[in-house]
Amino acid sequence: MDRSKSDIKLVINCSLCGKKELQVIKKDDDELMQCLSCGYASSNIYLGDMKTNETFKSLEEDTKKFAKESNGQIWIPAVMSMPVGVYYPHSFDEDKNLKWAFSPIVDILEEEQKHYPKPDGGFFKQRYDLDSEQIFDFFGEGIIRINNQYEEEISLKAPKDERFVQDSV
Ligand SMILES: [Zn+2]
Repeated sequence: MDRSKSDIKLVINCSLCGKKELQVIKKDDDELMQCLSCGYASSNIYLGDMKTNETFKSLEEDTKKFAKESNGQIWIPAVMSMPVGVYYPHSFDEDKNLKWAFSPIVDILEEEQKHYPKPDGGFFKQRYDLDSEQIFDFFGEGIIRINNQYEEEISLKAPKDERFVQDSV
């Protein structure tokens, strides 16, 4: 085994929230960072600022609006696909604190599946239920509550890749 290619993982202080919850994963020349406290993530493709970074400029407006600059790079809140649903940045409150939202996965009734065509043919059998969206004040709080709420299902369900995703998520 080539040890130089293995991931190096460390946990350091997050420059955004100040908590020692920033996971840094180094793989070859890539450096990925994800804070488990505030939910913001970055990597070496987001060095610089929002005005000049080409990768950032190519992102959707919905992603850009939550971005922050800190420590010489751009930080973007992570969208997390879980076996039981999707967890995503929702909105800023009046103090510019980011609120988070979770939408569970639901099965689509067989007679409804015709409304959810797959791009490559066939129909989706599951979708995210945005009507059951739950809002959380903090990233970490939401993760804990979702895990508690869906403990049993998380342990039973294997991740599935093919889901209908609405544009707003
Ligand atoms: Zn943080």
